[in-house]
Amino acid sequence: LTKKVEMTNWEKGHYINYAGMNENLNIVRSRLNRPLTYAEKILYSHLDDPHGQDIERGKSYLKLRPDRVACQDATAQMAILQFMSAGMPSVATPTTVHCDHLIEAQVGGEKDLERAYNINKEVYDFLSTSCAKYNIGFWKPGSGIIHQIVLENYAFPGGLMIGTDSHTPNAGGLGMCAVGVGGADAVDVMANLPWEVKAPKIIGVKLTGKLSGWTAPKDIILKVAGILTVKGGTGAIVEYHGPGVNSFSCTGMATICNMGAEIGATTSVFPFNDRMYDYLAATKRQHIGDFARSYAAELREDEGAEYDEFIEINLDELEPHINGPFTPDLATPLSKFKDAVKENKWPEEMKVGLIGSCTNSSYEDMSRAASIARDALDHGIKSKSLFTVTPGSEQIRATIERDGQLQTLEEFGGMVLANACGPCIGQWSRTDVKKGEANSIVCSYNRNFTGRNDANPATHSFVTSPDLVVALAIAGDLKFNPITDTLKDKDGNDFKLKPPTGDGLPKLGYDAGRDTYQAPPEDRSQVSVAVSPTSDRLQILEPFDKWDGKDATNLPILIKAQGKTTTDHISMAGPWLKYRGHLDNISNNMLIGAINAANGEANKVKNQETGDVDAVPAVARDYKKRGIKWVVIGDWNYGEGSSREHAALEPRHLGGLAIITRSFARIHETNLKKQGMLPLTFSNPEDYDKIKPDDRVDIKATELAVGKPITMVVHPADGGKPFEVKLSHTFNESQLEWFVNGSALNTMAKKAAS
Ligand code: SF4
Repeated sequence: LTKKVEMTNWEKGHYINYAGMNENLNIVRSRLNRPLTYAEKILYSHLDDPHGQDIERGKSYLKLRPDRVACQDATAQMAILQFMSAGMPSVATPTTVHCDHLIEAQVGGEKDLERAYNINKEVYDFLSTSCAKYNIGFWKPGSGIIHQIVLENYAFPGGLMIGTDSHTPNAGGLGMCAVGVGGADAVDVMANLPWEVKAPKIIGVKLTGKLSGWTAPKDIILKVAGILTVKGGTGAIVEYHGPGVNSFSCTGMATICNMGAEIGATTSVFPFNDRMYDYLAATKRQHIGDFARSYAAELREDEGAEYDEFIEINLDELEPHINGPFTPDLATPLSKFKDAVKENKWPEEMKVGLIGSCTNSSYEDMSRAASIARDALDHGIKSKSLFTVTPGSEQIRATIERDGQLQTLEEFGGMVLANACGPCIGQWSRTDVKKGEANSIVCSYNRNFTGRNDANPATHSFVTSPDLVVALAIAGDLKFNPITDTLKDKDGNDFKLKPPTGDGLPKLGYDAGRDTYQAPPEDRSQVSVAVSPTSDRLQILEPFDKWDGKDATNLPILIKAQGKTTTDHISMAGPWLKYRGHLDNISNNMLIGAINAANGEANKVKNQETGDVDAVPAVARDYKKRGIKWVVIGDWNYGEGSSREHAALEPRHLGGLAIITRSFARIHETNLKKQGMLPLTFSNPEDYDKIKPDDRVDIKATELAVGKPITMVVHPADGGKPFEVKLSHTFNESQLEWFVNGSALNTMAKKAAS
């Protein structure tokens, strides 16, 4: 274990520390004296203080030392702006930045990329110069999607990483514990502070049997999402095990871990196995595979490890699934989908099929998709639906171009988009339907909240395996079932599609394609970071005010949000992505997607000072101008969805004090704390119903203490008697300091100065 093996081929001097991990693990073992799950082993072997750390699943806050940080371009801007304000010369933990989110899909790869370069020039210049300055690896536009690049180059079994993107868990396919965090957490780790996370519970998913036919790895997570729902994984790591895990590819495991984000899981992880070894070898990292084999006993669960929750899935019996629309946990097995389409009156015509993305663009995915497309082409037919292909990385694109799958998919009618997020995150200039027109699209992505792909709330977006996307696209009809139904060939004869086939790994090895990486220069002292003071896309951050030490009284409720309020509702993506580095400008999207309980509408709230009805950000700005703090009332799982800290920065910037909900999504709750906001939950969730949107509230902030609820006094708008409501919170000691000092960053700067 004392061998020196580099973590990645792209950096020098950063070694995989199995020896140190083993030491930590031995300390923890002797303390806990019980079998450990694999996820626990990874976490506890990365403890900052293995001797003293409190360890209770679901209770204690772990202080951890991640091996790596990865940021995508939309979140990296704010993370780096924050890191800069801490005044350090270099990141303390190996970090990479990936340009993938800001590229809009319009007419196809090359042209779209060129346009993105022009539109985003100042952001790319800022990222490339700041990465060079602070010793960060920079993956240029066109290199691919963050999670694919991480899997191909950086992930390793037993490692711990954080990434400023919800689908960071993708690296669990290589046995890494990879967690999506807000930019603020990334800044901590970049600045050599430990990363703090509530010790996750562990959900064990035992896989038996073997996948076959039309069933793909994606169907495992589609099924799990149906069982656990979008809330079911909250605060937990999903750990796969059992004999079934050896029956499919490493990239298939990555797909499953990737979409674990959709059930709110902290992350998902597979134990190290031969399929991972093969993938490491295929991506020029056999030495890492060999090293992992020497530590293999600790790269899986202990015999008798106990899980907080347990699910078993027999892959022999697993059907292909299609999930959606509008939520990824509405899981329908293929055999029942036809009826579900009719019963629910979902638009039957499939307008667009979209394959690829960080979730499903492996060599295997593309090969299987191409095998189905080839089958159709051999019968003289093509895709009836519009069809797009998003390679996850330049390496995938170049390899499938060399091996022919790309040409097959183009011949089939596919438009090959840039190696980037594109339609998955609303970066899609869609022209085939009008806004507001009900229609169906089917994709192999992971997330399908309302409006996510094309900003059209009437688009019914379904997620499934790439195999089914292709099959359904041939029929152009959601009701088509390739297992039971026939298609007409060019002469009008019936035929049935053959089940997909495809290699897991390219026989000729991967083709790296174009060189798209920028390593930090040897001498970084001369690099200057490019930020124009007149920019509308980038703005140097000013520290937030510290707490005034008083209870807050007579606060208006900016909005009482009703139902699902995701980070997309709080800080919309799509066209707003371009303002991710400019807090004041992006704040104009704050909560514009949240549904107001007062009128059932989005972005229409009453200004309690003037009585006028206006947009949410406008009302917040007006309160701020008048020096009035405000609160938001929210429903269940408020802030689910992504890790974007803008959803927390914006309410802070526009003068909010507290977000009070029935419950929070984990990352969003932490993000709010980091920015000096108060995320509070109704101790009794039914109290949500007692609050009217026009009421005023007092927040007894001076009562804040670890583990104790605080009081909110509600002053009813109808002049009724004021009443008290108890609010719970999850602040620990050090997090309370963030609130007192105004933000985590203020706390960091204060500590650095003292
Ligand atoms: Fe990009 Fe979509 Fe993957 Fe997020 S989920 S990284 S937006 S491709």
